[in-house]
Amino acid sequence: MNKETIYIIGHKSPDTDTVCSAIAYSEFLKKKKINAIPAIPEDLNQETKYVLDYFKVKTPAKLKSIKGKKVILVDHNEASQSPQGIEDAEVIEIIDHHKIGCILSNPISVFTKPSGSTATLIAQKMFDDNKFKITKQLAGLLVSAILSDTVVFKSSTTTNEDILVAKKLGKIAGIKNLKDFGIDIKKKKANLNGLSAEKIIYSDFKSFQENDKKFGIGQIEVVDLNEAKEKQDKILEKIEEIIKKENFTFLILMLTDIINEGSELLISGENKYLEKAFGKKIENNSIYLKKMMSRKKDLLPPLIKEINKQ
Ligand code: MN
Ligand code: MN
Repeated sequence: MNKETIYIIGHKSPDTDTVCSAIAYSEFLKKKKINAIPAIPEDLNQETKYVLDYFKVKTPAKLKSIKGKKVILVDHNEASQSPQGIEDAEVIEIIDHHKIGCILSNPISVFTKPSGSTATLIAQKMFDDNKFKITKQLAGLLVSAILSDTVVFKSSTTTNEDILVAKKLGKIAGIKNLKDFGIDIKKKKANLNGLSAEKIIYSDFKSFQENDKKFGIGQIEVVDLNEAKEKQDKILEKIEEIIKKENFTFLILMLTDIINEGSELLISGENKYLEKAFGKKIENNSIYLKKMMSRKKDLLPPLIKEINKQ
């Protein structure tokens, strides 16, 4: 066995796709006699905890810094989303389904496709390899990741391949009703009860850099937007604090209603890009956008286009 350890790691604010993809891909590489270890940069959210418990898989080790390590990045490709120490890590491969925003200094293997989740890409790699048998446990993790990232196939990022692969995995995992199971998973996180404003904003947070504008977008799924209304003032206060601290041009929190399929966006800082991108006035730092489910596909492209016009 090649002794050198390769860490498979996803993005900060780890979600189910990032964690399950890291675990599944490590298993795949181990079968190829590669010393691969899955790792997480930060603690798991409630949803991912539930999924790992459900399939009796242990939580990957926490790796705060990847400085000096050999790594494979899954579910992200931007340094700002990577764990600490990325500048001094050796990235040997990337598997992802997001827009390519990284600068690669070395020729490495990059596997990316417009897909609803990284787990779909990893499952496809596994199905394509005759020698690899997907266990019930791995199938469970991968299908959970697909259901989570595609919001039970409701997100506009969902492709036919996601659905086909999820069905195949669901059979192996012995899940009778994918939709019911998916909603169950999502509900573990779609609940603001007992969460501080900071936890809500950072539960799934990404920062971006476009031109000279640095901005942040957090997203949290809810089953009831009214829960968020009560906390709105506190959330906005915290958003303003983070903007100052991190020097953001603006910060958006997407409260995504997974039942009614739309998002309430709370924003502070410069809001003209968001207003112009969607042709709607922002009132009291908030705006509701129907059918807005995906940060990546529904929110980012029009927003980035607007920022680059300036
Ligand atoms: Mn992710
Ligand atoms: Mn993903």
